[in-house]
Formats: sequence, C-alpha cells, structure tokens
Amino acid sequence: MRDDIVIVGGGLAGSEAAWQAANRGARVTLYEMRPKEMTKAHKTGGLAELVCSNSLGSIDPHNAPGVLKEEMRRLGSLIIASAEQSKVPAGSALAVDRDQFSSTITRTLESHPNIRILHEEIADIPTDCVCIVATGPLTSDTLSQAIRAVTQSQHLYFFDAISPIIDADSIDMDIVFRASRYDKGTDDYLNCPMTDEQYNAFYDALLAAEKVQPKDFEKTPYFEACIPIEVMAERGRHTMQFGPLKPVGLEDPRTGRRPAAVVQLRTENVHRTCYNLVGFQTKLTYPEQKRVFRLIPGLERAEFLRYGSLHRNTFINSPQLLTSTLQFKARNTLFFAGQLVGVEGYTESAAMGGLAGINAVRVLNGEPTVTPPPTTAHGCLVAHVALSDPRHFQPMNTNFGLFPPLSSTPRDKEMKRRMIAQRALEDFASWKTQSGLS
Ligand SMILES: Cc1cc2nc3c(=O)[nH]c(=O)nc-3n(C[C@H](O)[C@H](O)[C@H](O)COP(=O)(O)OP(=O)(O)OC[C@H]3O[C@@H](n4cnc5c(N)ncnc54)[C@H](O)[C@@H]3O)c2cc1C
Repeated sequence: MRDDIVIVGGGLAGSEAAWQAANRGARVTLYEMRPKEMTKAHKTGGLAELVCSNSLGSIDPHNAPGVLKEEMRRLGSLIIASAEQSKVPAGSALAVDRDQFSSTITRTLESHPNIRILHEEIADIPTDCVCIVATGPLTSDTLSQAIRAVTQSQHLYFFDAISPIIDADSIDMDIVFRASRYDKGTDDYLNCPMTDEQYNAFYDALLAAEKVQPKDFEKTPYFEACIPIEVMAERGRHTMQFGPLKPVGLEDPRTGRRPAAVVQLRTENVHRTCYNLVGFQTKLTYPEQKRVFRLIPGLERAEFLRYGSLHRNTFINSPQLLTSTLQFKARNTLFFAGQLVGVEGYTESAAMGGLAGINAVRVLNGEPTVTPPPTTAHGCLVAHVALSDPRHFQPMNTNFGLFPPLSSTPRDKEMKRRMIAQRALEDFASWKTQSGLS
C-alpha cells in the first residue's frame, strides 16, 4: 500500500480534495490529464477550470447554496477562498474572473509541500493506495471503461435526465390527489388531473415553448426511456397520454371519473418536502419551464427548487455503490467525488471533493470516517447521494427541499428558510467539533 493519496482529476472536486487531504498531513499525488488530453468543454491546462458560467451561485446566507458555501468556508475551502480572491461584481452571486480563479488554485496546489501534480491521463483506477476518483462529467473514455468495470456497467450513466423539482408547500392540494395507479402499493404519488381542454392548452404551450440548444458534443440520440417531454409531445398530440401523462388506473376523487390526462409527482425525499414531475426531463429554458409547467392543474403557484435538464454527464448510481462517506462499498480505500457521485454544480462538486479528501486521510490514518448531519447542506447532499432510491437516482444541486423539515414550521417562508439555514450552521459547527475537524 502506497503512503500517499492518489486523486484522479484536477477539477473543482479533485482540487478541493487535494487541498483538504494535504492540509491534514497526507501526501497527495494529483493526476490531471489536461493540457495533454483535453475534454470537449475545457480550454486550458489549469486546475479547477470553470467550463461554462463564471458564477458559483448565490452567497446569500439564507438560501441553500449560500449555506453550503458558508459550511465550506468553515472547513477552510480552497475553492471558496480562491473564488473570494477572484471575485467580480455580481450582486448576491459569487462570480469570479475564471482565469484568476483557476490560476490561484493551480499556484496554491503546485506550491503545497504535500502535493505533487502530474499531468497524465489515468486509464485504470489505482488499487495500491487510497484513491479518490474525481474526473467529472467529461471523464475520459478509457477511465469510463475502468469505472464501468469496477461499478458494473449498469451503474454508470453518460447522460442525466432531470425532471423539475417542486416545493411541496407550493402544490395546490385542493386540486391534486394522492393515489397509486390501480391502487397498487401505497398512495405515494400526487396526481394532477387534466381535462381535455387543459391537456390541449398544455400540449400547445409545450410545443411552442423555447428550448435550450444542445452543445455539439451533446447531439447524441436520446435514450428512449428518457426523452425530453417536449420531444415526446412532438410525436403526436396524444403520445404523452400513452406515456407519462397516461390516466389509466387513476380516478379523480372529486369527479369520480378518470381524467383526460394525469401528471404524476413523486417525492424526492423521505420528508416529502419536495416532488419531481415524473417523466418531465426537458430541454425547455428555465423561464419556459416555469410558465408552461404552471399550466398543470395544481401547479399554478409551483415553486421550482430546481429545473429540469438533460445533458451529457458521467455519474454513477451512488446509492447503489457508495456509503455516505463517499467510499466505494466494495473497496473502502476507493472514494468517488464531484459530479461523478451525482451532484450538480461547481460548488456542490467541490464540497463533495472536500469531504472525500477529509475521509481519505482518515482512512489512511486508520481513523473513523465522518459524515455531516443531514440537517447541514453538506449532509443533505451526501444523503441524496448515498441514500436515494437507486431506481430513480439523478444528479442534484443544493436546495432547501433536501433539508429535513423543522420540528415546527413557521408560516412565513422567509422565516422558515432562515431557521433551516441557522440550524444547518449550528449543526455543522457541532459536527466539526465532535469530529475534531479544524
Ligand atoms: C458543458 C458543461 C457546462 C457546465 N456548466 C456549468 C455551469 O455553468 N455551472 C455549474 O455550476 N456547473 C456547470 N457544469 C457542471 C460542472 O462541470 C461541474 O459542476 C463541475 O465542474 C464538476 O466538478 P468535477 O470536479 O466533478 O469535474 P471537473 O471540474 O470537470 O473536473 C474533472 C477533471 O478530471 C479530468 N479528467 C477526466 N478524465 C481524466 C483521466 N482519465 N485522468 C486524469 N484526469 C482526468 C478533467 O480534465 C477535469 O479537469 C457544466 C458541465 C458541463 C460538462
């Protein structure tokens, strides 16, 4: 067994993992294949390159992304510190000068006495060391094959198919009814019933809505099981009624009749605080999703915790494969981190890198690994990654719908968010102390 930690991938997650591990005394070898081998989105050989937007999202301490950043700051995150150093004016968002951001991180890691950076592509997952794989959404083909082998092929995905997620409190339960098709199982689904007229209006709006154009490397035929809802609609006016909007086996208790169509909502978490629209993966622009999906009866005032999408991605079925310490169940010296584990976004990826870095050192030192409590932003992301239903697993960003409900919930939404944020930071502080983390 080598006495260093090998990290594969010098993106957002790998850079943060290297920093956290090296600062805790571990010797780290960080492999980054760029600039020798480039991905379809990266342009430089720098570490932690931002491939698209230059924003790391909100820093408002009373929203979920802001809480995540504050927790990372309290762990001494390199990504957050470098973002703050490279900050450009962007209101309540943490936007950066991307070149300065990447070069600050590159310089800091290059000059760290415990870190060695090698610009090489890794084709196989190393087995003779504690290893963190953080190769991101554009993992090289050869390593994808190796991940496919170690995780078994059916647990590695190359596209995500994300349906919008809605805050449960914003669903009109006077219209929506709870039931399972043919009364099979428990009443797990919320059903939005549509009349013919409502269905036709929805169909017409869906077809006319503005769509996001795929990037060149995303122009791959869709898998039939996860085609965008609007592409399904293009096949014919009634196609959706034989697909995700089929009303068979469902009766609206208010009318005693089968509706013309039904949109089903499935809970995203055990607390039933947020629901996804089943089968509604989509390339509609965000404003159009809000406008068109609010035409669905019961969702007129829906608050979107995240919007739907469908893009090129590489991620594993983490609930099947990982523990909540981001360790591979079948080999506890192997960690996965970043977008590969099924989180979305620069900050979320970096946060998962940080956690993997901390736990990798603990494994190396023979110490118990740690998991932040589910009431924290880190903890609820990890809970999504490790404890979701593996049959429906899709990547997730940080949002308030992931947090467990408060023991008593105030009516005022702003107050509720403030209380969840406050609880998160208090619990994070206690967890840090209990875990002996600096
Ligand atoms: C086109 C595109 C646009 C995006 N836009 C946004 C956005 O606007 N906002 C946002 O928050 N998120 C965006 N994302 C998601 C974003 O990529 C991730 O949030 C984040 O970069 C993931 O961090 P990561 O560390 O997991 O992966 P990355 O940051 O991609 O890092 C992975 C690194 O691993 C390297 N690598 C891959 N294979 C190997 C190998 N075999 N050996 C060695 N090195 C390897 C890569 O070169 C890369 O540097 C976008 C993703 C894509 C693909």
